[in-house]
Amino acid sequence: MATCLKKEIRCPSCGVAVETKLWPGIPASDPALRGRVLDESLFYWTCPECGYEMQLIYPCLYHDFDKGFVVFLEPNPKEPSLQKQEITIPAGTKKRMVTRGEELKEKVLIFEAGLNDAAVELAKIAVLKVVEDRRQLETNLAYFTRADEEKDEIEFVFFFEDEEPLYEHTRFELYRQTKAMVDGLKFQEASRDFLSVNLETARLMLEAVRSRGK
Ligand SMILES: [Zn+2]
Repeated sequence: MATCLKKEIRCPSCGVAVETKLWPGIPASDPALRGRVLDESLFYWTCPECGYEMQLIYPCLYHDFDKGFVVFLEPNPKEPSLQKQEITIPAGTKKRMVTRGEELKEKVLIFEAGLNDAAVELAKIAVLKVVEDRRQLETNLAYFTRADEEKDEIEFVFFFEDEEPLYEHTRFELYRQTKAMVDGLKFQEASRDFLSVNLETARLMLEAVRSRGK
């Protein structure tokens, strides 16, 4: 069941108060809500009076028990409001914490594709390095978009300031290698806690692998 609450949002542009639906609980089994996570419209707010658009991110829990994962979107990780969520999560479910709507979408795409997100982050770092070297620019805004084992491709999108998104794919073999690395580190995919698994996690994993090699 989806959980919905109504909140009055005041338009920062024209000042009108608009009753707006928020979704603290998002089940994957609701195709409309899942679609709005994937097209990123769920966290955009448009003023019906003046057309002003803004991002509207709030704590919510996306759950897909069939595929064995939940993702908690918490824009303020220092003050998590998870205890407000009244939902029973089955044992063995992968639990993740993210801070951005784009990251929530990315986790859904990764887990629906049956991939290991830590291995995806490690593969992402490798592609990120290539892209950054080529552009002579740095970014932390990088997301998994798709994988196709038959075509032997894994694709990411990178966002550089003031530029069009850059889609870059590489061989799926890279993922197989990073997955082997993650398995070697005995990464606890279904930990008891909500884990943040992102580029920072991948960097720490690389350090762990390097220090082992010394
Ligand atoms: Zn307005």
